[in-house]
Amino acid sequence: MLKVVKFGGSSLASAEQFKKVGAIIREEADRRYVIPSAPGRRFDGDTKVTDMLYGCYHQAEKGSDFSGTLANIKARYEEIIAGLELDLSLDQEFEVIAENFKNLAGSDYAASRGEYLNGIIMANYLGFEFVDAATVICFDEDGTFNGDRTDEKLSARLAQCEYAVIPGFYGANPDGSVRTFSRGGSDITGSLVAKAVHADLYENWTDVSGFLLTDPRIVKDPVVISTITYREMRELSYMGATVLHEDAVFPLRREGIPVNVRNTNRPQDPGTMIVESTCNKPKYTITGIGGKKGFASITIEKDMMNSEIGFGRKVLQVFEENGLSFEHTPSGIDTFTVYVHQKEFEEKEQRVIAGLHRSVKPDLIDLESDLALIAVVGRGMKRQRGTAGRIFSALAHARVNVKMIDQGSSELNIIIGVENRDFETAIKAIYDMFVLAQI
Ligand code: ASP
Repeated sequence: MLKVVKFGGSSLASAEQFKKVGAIIREEADRRYVIPSAPGRRFDGDTKVTDMLYGCYHQAEKGSDFSGTLANIKARYEEIIAGLELDLSLDQEFEVIAENFKNLAGSDYAASRGEYLNGIIMANYLGFEFVDAATVICFDEDGTFNGDRTDEKLSARLAQCEYAVIPGFYGANPDGSVRTFSRGGSDITGSLVAKAVHADLYENWTDVSGFLLTDPRIVKDPVVISTITYREMRELSYMGATVLHEDAVFPLRREGIPVNVRNTNRPQDPGTMIVESTCNKPKYTITGIGGKKGFASITIEKDMMNSEIGFGRKVLQVFEENGLSFEHTPSGIDTFTVYVHQKEFEEKEQRVIAGLHRSVKPDLIDLESDLALIAVVGRGMKRQRGTAGRIFSALAHARVNVKMIDQGSSELNIIIGVENRDFETAIKAIYDMFVLAQI
């Protein structure tokens, strides 16, 4: 068994957290490749080291004195080193960093130092080899990530070490300059390492005990999803629930490597398994409930619309020409509705309406705003009678008016449109129906 383990910022925010991480890694000899993030927040209101680095570099760019901010960053690391009682000094590293900041080495370089330094500490603490991500994660000249070269370099390099620490979040351009992934990108590094070494499992350690069935800001202490498929996760992530960077999914999925999302503060919890496919029957009929507020709907009415070939295409073309992507398009005999993000739509509203008038000559265009979409997702819904019935009876009992219903033909999800103000009530009602009532 070979495991690649990635630890998020809050798991590595202090010496105390480092000790928990050390205990987790030492517990299993299979945990051979470790990907650390930069130190995150230690408490509410604290600043992540990555943000401190961006701020510090911004000062350097403006030509201001950044030495105080850099000293604060150094102090964060020194506190960790002292707490772990390591015989390690980062003095030289910080001299190089200060010099490179002065020479304006770039904000990607600046931000990457967060994981770079944490990687050095982690490798020293564990007695593992340190592999600088700049030597194994490759980008092309135009800034696009080069998966093939990365895979080649990573697998060749890691074949030489049984145990290694590879800092997350960054790599290098062909000229050696540092480039980072987007925020939260250490997950991507972890998935690339897992792919390159053909890991049996990629463990993503964070500060929650897995993927929650719904938003904890809406439902108090929602249950943790024990197993979720990548497709289900995609549906839920799209609706706002994320525990894994979107770009981390692709390399893992292609290799069929499962991910286990775990909680550093509660290592006894099994967390969530994310898998390509499974015959594991979910405990509840639904796997998760996600949702987003802030949609608008544009309903176009025209007599005999259903016999007009190309009507839908012409409508959607107007949205395309205005650079708007659509979410859903429920339709009736003589009506066709398009759901879009309200914020994006607002500034283009009049152009879209004029475009629709020109293109399809509607009898009427009706606009509605402040709508929310709720996705009820679950592989367990397939071929199961009564799921939709239960959802809508829960909503009726909660006095929520349903404005739109859309079930994908994969039967993996049911999307429901409600008014923004009914959003929380609706999610609670569906949760209660399927989880609390244990159906
Ligand atoms: N440290 C980086 C960030 O804050 C990357 C990561 O944590 O994954 O976005």
